[in-house]
Amino acid sequence: MNAMNDQIKRRAFLEKVVRVGSGMSIIPLLFQSCKSDGGNATEKESVNSLDVTSCDDLSKVPEAEIKKREGFAYVEESPMPDKHCKNCQLYLPPKEGQSCGGCALFQGPVFEEGYCTYWAPIV
Ligand code: SF4
Repeated sequence: MNAMNDQIKRRAFLEKVVRVGSGMSIIPLLFQSCKSDGGNATEKESVNSLDVTSCDDLSKVPEAEIKKREGFAYVEESPMPDKHCKNCQLYLPPKEGQSCGGCALFQGPVFEEGYCTYWAPIV
């Protein structure tokens, strides 16, 4: 009976070690994931905060990001007066000293009067 109890305890202990061990192996992935997102956010931030003289200056925006804005059908001037980037939930206002805002969906400057098919009202 004692041998059986020891075996059960040992099994429970080993299961616990395996569970904890599995959790531990996920932790570096979580950190890597956070690091990775942070890197993208930093890169996105730097492109969105470009000190451009005109909001249509895409000279430093990666080609893939330009394709994204085209895919969202972004236009510099909204065809609808009540729907534009400035009153969109995804709009990133210009930083102090800058004239162009950005968009949470893609990198690069956007016009306050701009618009795309992903326009979402501020709630
Ligand atoms: Fe402008 Fe579209 Fe971005 Fe909204 S989602 S800020 S409308 S580009």
